[in-house]
Amino acid sequence: MDLQNKTVLVTGSTRGIGLAIAKAFYQAGCRVVLNGRKNVPEQVLAEFTDSQRVFAVTGDVADASEAQEMVAQALAHFGQLDILVNNAGITRDMLANRMTLEDFKAPIETNLIGSFNVTQPALKAMYRARSGCIINISSVVALIGNVGQVNYAASKAGLIGMTKTIAREAARRNVRCNAITPGMIETDMVAVLSEKTQEKLKSEIPLGHFGQPDEVAQTAVFLAENDYVTGQVITVDGGLAMV
Ligand code: NDP
Repeated sequence: MDLQNKTVLVTGSTRGIGLAIAKAFYQAGCRVVLNGRKNVPEQVLAEFTDSQRVFAVTGDVADASEAQEMVAQALAHFGQLDILVNNAGITRDMLANRMTLEDFKAPIETNLIGSFNVTQPALKAMYRARSGCIINISSVVALIGNVGQVNYAASKAGLIGMTKTIAREAARRNVRCNAITPGMIETDMVAVLSEKTQEKLKSEIPLGHFGQPDEVAQTAVFLAENDYVTGQVITVDGGLAMV
């Protein structure tokens, strides 16, 4: 796909990996739709200097009607939706034997059902256009598990099943769907971990350090550009999980 003047919606793009992905697509010539639950801060919008190529939609992906409205607004503003990046995600860590059902459900509602909520209306537009690309931001823990993340790992593993199924259903309409499984990437999500935990995690990564949001963003741009890749899961993790 030639990214020039294509429209990309990146959910959860007020900071971290989502913001890096939005910037990478913008730099590649795309029109970018940013999203946050309550608002997209002015200072974030200001980083996209061509105001003609950026638009913000607020909405919680876990709410199906808000998700539909986000897609509708993106389509109304730019007239097309070529790429969707399902990036919005949360954690709610606790050991499985102590986790409440509410805490088990929270990441599933945002990470898995939220991705479906945005994917469905986006797919309809992409089917009409006979062209499109969906990129789901899963996690390496979907592949290898992680202590304290039974809910998050289940949500991200579900996203891989969804990716492959959408890839099979959508291929004949020239719509592709892939997933990225990042390892430890330096964002707010990782900053909440204690220094001791961070050092322990680094010692388990063959490359010896955490990744940067840009390194995930480069992979998202590759997946959008390469028309012959679909149903794939690409890991960006410094070698943490070699499965
Ligand atoms: P951050 O916590 O830094 O950012 C999360 C983003 O998602 C924010 O922009 C937040 O916006 C938004 N968001 C959260 N919930 C919702 C919602 N219900 N609806 C809309 N937007 C929402 O996370 P990261 O950048 O670290 O992570 C991004 C993605 O990458 C997530 O899916 C995460 O699971 C995944 N990932 C991250 C890894 C890491 O090491 N950092 C590793 C593997 C995967 P706001 O608060 O403004 O609503």
